[in-house]
Amino acid sequence: MIVGDWEDPQKLEELARRSDVVTFDWENIAGDALAPVEAITRVRPPRAALEVAQDRLSEKALFLRLKIPVTPHAPIDSKAQLQRVMRELGTPGILKTRRLGYDGKGQFVLRGAHSVDAAWHALGGGNLIYEKFQPFSREISIIGARSAAGRMVFYPLSSNTHGDGVLRYGIAPYSSARLERSARAYLKRVLNELAYVGVLAIEFFVVAGRLIANEMAPRVHNSGHWTIEGCVTSQFENHMRAICDLPLGSTRALGHTAMVNFLGKMPDRGALLAIDGLAFHDYGKQARPGRKLGHCTIIRQHARERDQALRRALKLIEWR
Ligand code: AMP
Repeated sequence: MIVGDWEDPQKLEELARRSDVVTFDWENIAGDALAPVEAITRVRPPRAALEVAQDRLSEKALFLRLKIPVTPHAPIDSKAQLQRVMRELGTPGILKTRRLGYDGKGQFVLRGAHSVDAAWHALGGGNLIYEKFQPFSREISIIGARSAAGRMVFYPLSSNTHGDGVLRYGIAPYSSARLERSARAYLKRVLNELAYVGVLAIEFFVVAGRLIANEMAPRVHNSGHWTIEGCVTSQFENHMRAICDLPLGSTRALGHTAMVNFLGKMPDRGALLAIDGLAFHDYGKQARPGRKLGHCTIIRQHARERDQALRRALKLIEWR
């Protein structure tokens, strides 16, 4: 085991020398820090994918280049620019940090010119992005894996419910043959463009029956945790298989699942485990408001039974 800062060059070099392949499950490691690792061993997914996904603006530029629709947006580096862009694109909108933002952190909702000062005070500085607020009927995500030889597998869609910018629960498979076709086509474009190896997720808004890409994650994704119990091969296993040049496993769903996050407070384990077929995951973390502390997965043969069990579970879970 090597313990140290993830950008410590000496530790990273030691890791690289001891590894056949290096991967990551968090995308905020500086791409530059991984350059020396790449000179010694394989980094999978590729560093270029990490760098694109780290910056909301370059992520959107990649989507646009690949003809994947995104919300109207513009980079922001000054208060005056923010005021101008708000007039051009309209309100409401969301001011976000381009880097290091996740789970609704580093975001400020702007409802009109009167909130500019407050937004600037909260995020200030620059290196921001303004996005038009996109009313949507649903949020979905797709997860897939690509091998170095270019073979790809895709999981069924997950329909995701967020609160305060954080995933609260998801249900899968979300059946819409049309949305699934376009989500797969978009994900395929990104995977091939980046010569990707490993698991990649893209989150979308569903707007008037069409997909608008929100963001991507070059790693296993929270909205895919249901695949641990819900699929023949989980997203975690397929990531490992992909980066180790092993055959990718089946992504077939074993039933209808729901995955609920435990945020800020762990629920009563006994009460939840009384729900038949529920799997309980405790990450063993210290509780903090909004922090992901664990999750549970419910699996049923029919969607209606899954929905009933989900309603029962939701009554036992409090998000803080
Ligand atoms: P993000 O960190 O960009 O994934 O944002 C977290 C959540 O905030 C999303 O899953 C949406 O629920 C919401 N959100 C982010 N950007 C927008 C947007 N442009 N329009 C509407 N909702 C948004």
